[in-house]
Amino acid sequence: MPIRAETSGCTDVVPLVERGQREVFCGLTGIIWLHRKIQDAFFLVVGSRTCAHLIQSAAGVMIFAEPRFGTAIIDERDLAGLADVHEELDRVVGQLLARRPDIRLLFLVGSCPSEVIKLDLSRAAERQNQIHHPKVRVLNYSGSGIETTFTQGEDACLAAMVPGLPASAPDTAPALMVVGTLADVVEDQMRSLFDRMGLQVSFFPPRNSQAMPVVGPNTRYLLAQPFLADTARALQSRGAQHLAAPFPLGVEGMTAWLQAAATEFGVAPEVFEQATAAPRQRAEKALAVQRQMLQGQRIFFFPDSQLEIPLARFVHRELGMDLVEVGTPYLHRQHMAAELALIPAGTRISEGQDVDLQLDRCIADAPDLVVCGLGLANPLEAQGITTKWAIELVFTPIQGYEQAADLAGLFSRPLKRRLKLAA
Ligand code: SF4
Repeated sequence: MPIRAETSGCTDVVPLVERGQREVFCGLTGIIWLHRKIQDAFFLVVGSRTCAHLIQSAAGVMIFAEPRFGTAIIDERDLAGLADVHEELDRVVGQLLARRPDIRLLFLVGSCPSEVIKLDLSRAAERQNQIHHPKVRVLNYSGSGIETTFTQGEDACLAAMVPGLPASAPDTAPALMVVGTLADVVEDQMRSLFDRMGLQVSFFPPRNSQAMPVVGPNTRYLLAQPFLADTARALQSRGAQHLAAPFPLGVEGMTAWLQAAATEFGVAPEVFEQATAAPRQRAEKALAVQRQMLQGQRIFFFPDSQLEIPLARFVHRELGMDLVEVGTPYLHRQHMAAELALIPAGTRISEGQDVDLQLDRCIADAPDLVVCGLGLANPLEAQGITTKWAIELVFTPIQGYEQAADLAGLFSRPLKRRLKLAA
């Protein structure tokens, strides 16, 4: 499917920048999908009871025989300086690792409370490594909600892993890496497509910490998620090179994303066509059904996951929806360049948030569908505005051809529900 040009779309957009009250989850939320991915890892949040409640309620029912995350609670004695927090933490880690020999990678995850009491988790991780390495590797990152959005938890986690990735042998041929957590089923589909193009690919993060991909100046990486600025910087400091592309959402995004790798590795056009034609056509057919429902519907994105710009490109170009406002927590121009070029010129793009002002704009615009965080969904629904929870778009496998119609379904379902209720 050739990319339809939008001249230069929103390439030079000057976003409406707001720096006021924000309504977003914190970076701990990333543990919900990360713990499913890296099967021998454990995420130990060093935080308060609030942090423990957030993780437990966001994760829902544990589906594993043994949990892959937990919280070391900082209590009043720690806060009052009556206990040595480092000693306490060492004791908790020792107990955990003695009871769980299956853990090979332990993350100490910082939170607002650990940052407030200036608990140095990098020192703690270093100390733990001296005791437990090489059997267990201990890393740390921050999931604190101060000045972050919830998807930055994944970025911080992956960036913490990059320095420990094995170096690729010098003078080896260029190799492809896909960066960003994907559901296993999506990863398998992508691997099979690259296989059909004759390309070997590694995925980061891997499913098992003992299978970390190698990295070096021969690495060419595609981002599978748009919120990985720090990870990209860390990979680049190891010599890896980014392949610029739209994100693999929808048929158009997926095709352009695959094409960026195909071009870099010199895959012949007919091989590319053969590898992608069947799943692409299946996805186009499935999307046509969803388009009937969504065409002409007006959509408003609140800033939440950093997926907003690629999603806006998808719903506008492949489903015919009209973009009222596209809010993003941060606008990373370099990673978003290919996406911005495909968003129609004149679209209102906002960066950051001043939630009251944005709610006023939203209510005045009266869109048909609003994509927003959980905290805003209920008040908007109460005003008769149909909403979609942004976080569902992160939890659900949405990348690739086979998921394109499911992704469209996430937008059409709330509208169908509203119609049924009205009837
Ligand atoms: Fe709340 Fe901060 Fe803990 Fe997140 S890290 S749950 S924002 S206290």
